[in-house]
Amino acid sequence: MTYVVSFSSSDLRLAADMRWTVIGHDEPHLQAAVILQRRLVERTITAVSDLLESDAPLLDVAAEPAAARLGEGLPFFRGGAWTLPVDKLGPLVAAACDDLATGGAGNVARNVRTCLEAGRIDLGSLLAVSLDRNQNAVREKALHESIAPDVLWLAAELAAAPAAHVAARQLAETGPTPLTDALPRWNRGYCPACGSWPAFSEQVDEQSLLRCSFCGHGWPIGPGCGYCGEGPDQVTWLKEEPAAPRRAQVCGDCGGYLKHLAREQRTPFELLPLEDLASTALDQLAAQQGYGRPPLPDFGDPLRHPCEADEPAR
Ligand SMILES: [Zn+2]
Ligand SMILES: [Zn+2]
Repeated sequence: MTYVVSFSSSDLRLAADMRWTVIGHDEPHLQAAVILQRRLVERTITAVSDLLESDAPLLDVAAEPAAARLGEGLPFFRGGAWTLPVDKLGPLVAAACDDLATGGAGNVARNVRTCLEAGRIDLGSLLAVSLDRNQNAVREKALHESIAPDVLWLAAELAAAPAAHVAARQLAETGPTPLTDALPRWNRGYCPACGSWPAFSEQVDEQSLLRCSFCGHGWPIGPGCGYCGEGPDQVTWLKEEPAAPRRAQVCGDCGGYLKHLAREQRTPFELLPLEDLASTALDQLAAQQGYGRPPLPDFGDPLRHPCEADEPAR
């Protein structure tokens, strides 16, 4: 699969440093965001490298039923059994809270950290719920604990995303299986692996791939709006200036927007947030015109319930 880009950790750090320097120079108002992102991305690089090194399969999915589910529009993570190194990934949730606290979220993030430290949230369940992309479950738990749902969701997402990425890679690289045979036929707007929306569409040479905002998987773009399925006649384009290579596709039906970035090569998973940040001006332009990004797709399954299972007595 063309989306898998393998670089050593040191090459990734070098590439990231160069990119942040450019972002900071071109868009000085993003300096604070760059400082926060440096910490978060550094941790992601280490986590992915550790997971790849240990080489343990993270997600057990039977290829044939998964291929059948893909045919019905269900991401192939669904129905799989995770084996998560919670001892490695769990501490990343608290570390993300610390970074978010110093990065501007302050006490809102510190309160989440305190809640984690007190053992009021089961980390294994939290990571599993995040991998299931079950935002409602995280929200319920956060409200129950009187902590900020968005911070808990984001911290869990930052900790779980390396596992999602490595699992998608492991499954896409084994084969051929009925699952890897079915993947190239996927043309929906959400990720065939985890079910998240893309962070952006990335064009390299003549080929555009949507890049998942969570696991980093890449898949070909279908015609029209990927969010609501409306045809190409509902889709128009926004540009910061007429000659700009990057642009946002906007949908007149659902009001969703998607950034399209032209790149010289595929962005490695670990560096996707940098390109997302570097194109913030497009997000602002789309927001000014009233466009937004829809909530995560709902696949209508009950999934695991909130991180309550192992909740100790208060
Ligand atoms: Zn994904
Ligand atoms: Zn739409």
